[in-house]
Amino acid sequence: MNLIDQKECHICNSSWHGGSIHAEFMRQRDEGYDWCKGKTDDELWEQVKEYYSPPYTWSRLIAIELDQDRVEYYICPDCFTVFAPDGTVTIEREKSSSFEEVQQNLIDHIKTNNNDNQSNQHPET
Ligand SMILES: [Zn+2]
Repeated sequence: MNLIDQKECHICNSSWHGGSIHAEFMRQRDEGYDWCKGKTDDELWEQVKEYYSPPYTWSRLIAIELDQDRVEYYICPDCFTVFAPDGTVTIEREKSSSFEEVQQNLIDHIKTNNNDNQSNQHPET
């Protein structure tokens, strides 16, 4: 089970549903964004289908990538629980009461984790 497929936080029950990507693209076109100027609703829908996967909605989950394109952690925008991609709680919600604290706790967690795993590290390619 990938966390990104879940619709709500299993800690605080808030919804992670962020709305339709197609609707957002149409809004951007209507506001005159350069990338979608003059495109029809259908053309924008084609683009949604090309670059995103069903159900074609945004997620409010905050993804943290340490390496490019590889999500290592997710943060619930409402309770600040930090999750691993499989949904395991990495840092409990009680540990952080602001986004700044989340960031600091996550940095501490990563540092501690790196120290613990030093002997298992494989060389960079
Ligand atoms: Zn939550």
